[in-house]
Amino acid sequence: MRTRRELVAGLVGAPALVGLERKTERPIAGGFVFEAQERGHRIRDGAGYGRVGEPRRMPVVIVGGGMAGLCAAWWLERSGFRDFVLLEMEAAAGGNSRFGENAVSAYPWGAHYIPVPNTESVLVREILTEFGAWADGQWDERFLCHSPQERLFLHGRWQEGIEPEVGATAADHAEYRRFAERVAELRATGAFTIPMALGEGKFGGRLAELDRLSFGAWLDRERFRSAYLRWFCDYSTRDDYGAGLGEASAWAGLHYFAAREHEEKGPLTWPEGNGWLVRKLTGKLGRYIRTGQLVRRVARQGTGWRVEAEGAVWLAEGVIFAAPTYLAPHLIDGFAPLPTLQYSPWVVSNLTLERVPDGAGEVAWDNVIYGSPGLGYVSATHQSLRTRIDRTVWTHYWALAGGNPRELRKNLLASRWEDWRDRVMADLRRAHPRIGECVERVDIYRNGHAMCRPGVGVRGSYDLRRLREGLGGLQFAHADLSGFSIFEEAQYWGVRAARRILGRIGREEKKSDRSNQRN
Ligand SMILES: Cc1cc2nc3c(=O)[nH]c(=O)nc-3n(C[C@H](O)[C@H](O)[C@H](O)COP(=O)(O)OP(=O)(O)OC[C@H]3O[C@@H](n4cnc5c(N)ncnc54)[C@H](O)[C@@H]3O)c2cc1C
Repeated sequence: MRTRRELVAGLVGAPALVGLERKTERPIAGGFVFEAQERGHRIRDGAGYGRVGEPRRMPVVIVGGGMAGLCAAWWLERSGFRDFVLLEMEAAAGGNSRFGENAVSAYPWGAHYIPVPNTESVLVREILTEFGAWADGQWDERFLCHSPQERLFLHGRWQEGIEPEVGATAADHAEYRRFAERVAELRATGAFTIPMALGEGKFGGRLAELDRLSFGAWLDRERFRSAYLRWFCDYSTRDDYGAGLGEASAWAGLHYFAAREHEEKGPLTWPEGNGWLVRKLTGKLGRYIRTGQLVRRVARQGTGWRVEAEGAVWLAEGVIFAAPTYLAPHLIDGFAPLPTLQYSPWVVSNLTLERVPDGAGEVAWDNVIYGSPGLGYVSATHQSLRTRIDRTVWTHYWALAGGNPRELRKNLLASRWEDWRDRVMADLRRAHPRIGECVERVDIYRNGHAMCRPGVGVRGSYDLRRLREGLGGLQFAHADLSGFSIFEEAQYWGVRAARRILGRIGREEKKSDRSNQRN
């Protein structure tokens, strides 16, 4: 995901790279990581499991330790409530904000930045303040993205910023301006907010139709024809939602641009991406977290809930279901399918480089290639204060948009590591013809259900309403409840579920917490 920038970018010349010859390439090590499909499919197929001993009582159980589950735990703890466990199926919590580390650097396996929060994002400010990113009235300089932030490879050269500038005509610029004006009008309605629930009351009337057509159809209707502008919009929706122009709703496409003011500073980023926050949260909440606990069934029992995990059975008064929502019909007894919701598959590759390829120019934090089916790469060593960097790690992102997600997922799971290694290398060769001389390893995470896709009709769907409503003593908490996935939404739904569950089981929040963001 990228930062939102105004559609005005400066031009910085970079040496042309075309014409460089491919030299001797080195053998590349690596493999797939986090291969959880088999365990997941056992849930889908309802396979049985062995003895788990006597059920244990626990007032609240959180299922899933991604950002939403961790933030629910964060809220419970700071409300003075300590009678809960968080069950995470993987060996470590973090979900889509997980990270890895090798001898060269820490690096993200998913989320890699948080925009500097606006004033509406009270909870985001609170959590970042608690962990020291904001202190004495300013953001920690180590975490604000250093310069150069973004660049785009276009017509054989790198330009600064990712809005296409090289070769842009007066007509392109006129469309950029007209688009920016439309976005400003929408922003002024107050309906495009982060977290999105805060703008809910203002999203009606004419705006509601934006959920009924695709972003591509909206651009057609508004006569936006610039190939550059359309590429930029398509890139943005693939990048934020894993969905192309024809797949994301107009509401979602426009939300990407209209929900934030132009950022003077930031974003906030770390070598391990949002894994920095995962480290902080798991460090603080470790005593509540049980990893390696795949939850296989959740069912009502008496006035409470029975949560069956691979390692134990828990009897709870309240459950916060923070696992991805596509699992709800498989795990929760009697929970009806969610036919409107689709999930985009993603491929994230971490490449360990012995050195930056010759002719690469000054590597930015975020490096995008125009016309590529991928989304470019982020440099994990960008925030390093070292004056000279030889070895580095690049995180390459590829959202599988442009097709039926189920088919795309099937093909993804049937593919071999070598196929993806070659695809990723071929993609990077467009801009770095000599990259094959530098890459030592390519580790690849194929995430079949990476995020909920905000397609046409999802925002106003019965399925999302059902999830937000919850089941009384079981509340859902996941970024999916917004229909799209960013940290702020995950945190919002996690905290909201924690508050609801506290209310439900008759535990008061501390007074000091009541002044905070309401749901
Ligand atoms: C490639 C990629 C890049 C992204 N980049 C950014 C970014 O730069 N900035 C940003 O803000 N957001 C980004 N996101 C969005 C990211 O999804 C959110 O920021 C956030 O991490 C979502 O958290 P979550 O808790 O809602 O969901 P998840 O991360 O999906 O967490 C769900 C958790 O539940 C666990 N679980 C699943 N099934 C079970 C089970 N049966 N039993 C127990 N546990 C279970 C999972 O292992 C996981 O830990 C990105 C997402 C992807 C996929």
